[in-house]
Amino acid sequence: MKQLWQTVLDRYSSDSESSLWLIRRILSENFREYAPRYGIAFCFMALVAAMTSLSAWIMRDVVNEIFVDKDLARTWMISLVVLAIFTIKGIATYGQTVVLSRIGNSIVAKNQMRIYDRILKQDAFFFQTYVSSDLITRISHNAQAARDVLNMLVTSIGRDLLSLIGLITVMVIQDPFMSFFAFFIAPPAIWGVAKLVKRARKIAKAEYLSLAQIVMVMQETSLGHRIVNIFGMQDIMRARMADAVSGVEQRANKIALIGARTSPLMETLGGFAFAAVIFYSGWQTIEAGKSPGEFISFLTALLLAYEPAKRISRLQVQLEAGLVGVRLMFELLDHPIALFDKDNAKELVITKGDIQFKTVTFEYVKDAPVLKEISLNAQGGKITALVGPSGGGKSTLINMVQRGYDPEIGSIEIDGQDIRHITRASLNRNLALVTQDTILFTGTIRDNILHGRPEASEEDIIQAAKDAFAHDFIMQFPDGYNTAVGENGASLSGGQKQRIAIARAIIKNAPIILLDEATSALDSESEAKVQQAFARLMKDKTTLVIAHRLATIRHSDAIAVIKEGQLLELGQHDELLAEKGFYAHLVQLQFGEEQK
Ligand code: ADP
Repeated sequence: MKQLWQTVLDRYSSDSESSLWLIRRILSENFREYAPRYGIAFCFMALVAAMTSLSAWIMRDVVNEIFVDKDLARTWMISLVVLAIFTIKGIATYGQTVVLSRIGNSIVAKNQMRIYDRILKQDAFFFQTYVSSDLITRISHNAQAARDVLNMLVTSIGRDLLSLIGLITVMVIQDPFMSFFAFFIAPPAIWGVAKLVKRARKIAKAEYLSLAQIVMVMQETSLGHRIVNIFGMQDIMRARMADAVSGVEQRANKIALIGARTSPLMETLGGFAFAAVIFYSGWQTIEAGKSPGEFISFLTALLLAYEPAKRISRLQVQLEAGLVGVRLMFELLDHPIALFDKDNAKELVITKGDIQFKTVTFEYVKDAPVLKEISLNAQGGKITALVGPSGGGKSTLINMVQRGYDPEIGSIEIDGQDIRHITRASLNRNLALVTQDTILFTGTIRDNILHGRPEASEEDIIQAAKDAFAHDFIMQFPDGYNTAVGENGASLSGGQKQRIAIARAIIKNAPIILLDEATSALDSESEAKVQQAFARLMKDKTTLVIAHRLATIRHSDAIAVIKEGQLLELGQHDELLAEKGFYAHLVQLQFGEEQK
């Protein structure tokens, strides 16, 4: 998997070839679906280009008929035509803007859902690689980058290029010789711009990284505001934020600078061309007696051509800045899906609910195994407690039952079925999980309990809440089960949140319970209720529980002592005490502390 990922990364190496590849990919993934609508936008843009060219064309008649021939009737006509030209141009510009914006917004929405769908299919490794602030920045900014790039392309090709072609046609018809002059500015302009593009690309990437840092600092401040206050971390956080903010500012300035640098380049070159044209045509009109109409028309076309030409020359710089975002978006969209089923995966069939770890070895980092040949049988319908010093591998072991990670050597079987060969959906259906940090989702208390079993009835919800000793406190809220749970359940106490999480697990009624007891101490009344709720949850289920306080697992059916990735001792409380081994030592330590 690592190798595949590397090839994906290689494809994004920032050379111009990959930019072309990216553009082709955006077009192939997004253009076709919107082709009819782009067609409409294109028509509007063609109309804008035609009207712009026409407005230059008509200048000949304006000058010759009005100022040279002094024909009043024709003056009326020409005024009306000019009015019509600009009205049509105005309407066409409106149409083009509206159609393009709609397409653009739809592309953003589509890509945001694509990114999110992909993220939902990822595993623990993925979320370790991409921190949440990075993901947030990508889904909010990078999906827009695809729209910006497409719109830039379409507008440049549609409106600017067509206008340019129209205006050049007017110029060539009015005076082919002078047109030749004007085109001299093109080659040096292209060369100058190409040099600026390379720098823009590098800076745009750095700008994105600072942007992600802003989100990260903001997120940490919001989640850890109490710690920030108590430890007086405001200055540190402020410095970090200032760093990120000024990073974005500086880079945005640099990009603006590079983009703007195309202006003096184009202005100077344009100045040369204009001066030459004015001199030549003035001389032609004054000395050779040519009518001024052609000259004015030509000059108008040249002046009008200047803006679209400048925009097109700047296109590549802006495109590169936009493509940085597109690259990052594709990086997520191409990330190999981690959560998939083997081809011939079967449905898990629970008979007794036995979980068997067979010589399970696992390492996060190469050559540093955190689990070493663990063999353990968690009996169906019984409670197996995992205890031991922190860092020993207990959480990893529990996570593996959920297939957060798969063993490198050995296997995990549920009722004799290797969990790697069963469907993830059927595995998840049979598991319920209560984690150390209670995770509740935005919504009401009822919504949160329902996440355990969406089709559950109102009676089921209330029963689950009662079993979890949550019903009484829920009823004390003015809104009862409709009480909104804020971000991460901010309006509830720790013990209350936990009991809701337990109700969510109870209502699922899964045969296997994975439990990571909270380490943070609750007040003793709350603690007692949470313990009772756990007892109800675990009743007659296969339970794997990580216990931090030994008092709570005294009556477990089996206690597995795990230290440094190895299974040290296994037995019941009394047996292990009698062995006078590591468990006995742990009990003594905790007992000693409780005496103090
Ligand atoms: P316990 O639950 O017993 O405290 P863990 O399973 O959390 O132990 O951790 C076991 C070992 O694995 C520790 O040394 C820890 O540092 C390491 N570890 C845990 N999670 C990761 C991870 N995502 N990446 C790398 N190492 C990890």
